[in-house]
Amino acid sequence: MRNLPKVLAKEKKLCTGCGACLNVCPVNAITMQTDREGFAYPEVQEERCLDCGLCEKQCPVLQPEYSNTDRPECYAMMAQDEERQTSSSGGFVPVVARWVLRQGGSVFGAAWDADWNVHHIEITNETELYKIKGSKYLQGSAEQSYQLVKRKLEEGKWVLFTGLPCQVAGLYSVLKGGG
Ligand SMILES: Cc1cc2nc3c(=O)[nH]c(=O)nc-3n(C[C@H](O)[C@H](O)[C@H](O)COP(=O)(O)OP(=O)(O)OC[C@H]3O[C@@H](n4cnc5c(N)ncnc54)[C@H](O)[C@@H]3O)c2cc1C
Ligand code: SF4
Ligand code: SF4
Repeated sequence: MRNLPKVLAKEKKLCTGCGACLNVCPVNAITMQTDREGFAYPEVQEERCLDCGLCEKQCPVLQPEYSNTDRPECYAMMAQDEERQTSSSGGFVPVVARWVLRQGGSVFGAAWDADWNVHHIEITNETELYKIKGSKYLQGSAEQSYQLVKRKLEEGKWVLFTGLPCQVAGLYSVLKGGG
């Protein structure tokens, strides 16, 4: 078994559950499994694993190749009332999303499924925007969305990805490396 799950078995709290490892595995040997406390962690199917090491290389926690800026730019905005009524806060997400969709782009965000689990989905139409609006206060799964984002960008499409900071770190990691 790769070192990755061994590290996590000892120091599970280090893993954010971002799913970048799952997105870069060339043989789909990684699945996310929910523990008894309800948090998702990667599990490697040993019989499939090629021992290529990509999952460790692209993990944003094990290889933190990014730094936060000392002086971040700060913006404040508020969408129109109708937009904010169905958003959780200022409604910035739908404002940017609508612009991206009008350029023929894709928007990736967290949506409920029929069993009240949260997954990242891709939308390409403004009529679907309601699905990703609103905070879902539980851990969601980014699924294969980092790979999909990468593919869209390679096609020259506009993409908006919205998610938690750990998911954005996972996305950057996948965009920078393999997968
Ligand atoms: C788990 C969680 C904790 C938060 N904690 C704080 C906090 O402590 N203080 C604070 O000021 N704000 C917090 N927020 C942010 C805040 O609740 C609003 O989500 C945000 O201000 C909404 O902005 P909006 O109106 O532009 O987005 P909306 O139009 O409401 O859209 C919501 C956006 O959040 C994303 N999202 C929703 N649920 C999830 C999820 N489970 N995982 C990943 N992405 C998700 C969707 O993709 C969508 O883009 C938290 C959000 C989440 C999801
Ligand atoms: S890539 Fe993300 S999910 Fe995979 S081990 Fe690292 S932190 Fe955990
Ligand atoms: S070592 Fe390679 S094949 Fe094995 S789980 Fe990691 S990414 Fe997949």
